[in-house]
Amino acid sequence: MSNTKPVTIPHGMKWCPACGECHAETEFYSDRSRPDGLARLCRKADNKRRVERKRVLAAAREVARVDRIVAWRKANPDALYVPRSMAL
Ligand SMILES: [Zn+2]
Repeated sequence: MSNTKPVTIPHGMKWCPACGECHAETEFYSDRSRPDGLARLCRKADNKRRVERKRVLAAAREVARVDRIVAWRKANPDALYVPRSMAL
């Protein structure tokens, strides 16, 4: 895999900076906001990025959840914390 953009791109093909190679234009989602009407990255790279973003957001949510519990415990030092899933 090389990140060097080739000087000429065959007709019907588009350069994908994520993969570092050309793919057929059908490998790209359409994106009307872009001059060529195609997404910047190919579908495969786009999906990979989406999954990664989801993972990062889930991790951030988990951190926020633990922070809330820690703050709650600080505010209620004598109370017993029972997760909602275990509450009667
Ligand atoms: Zn690609």
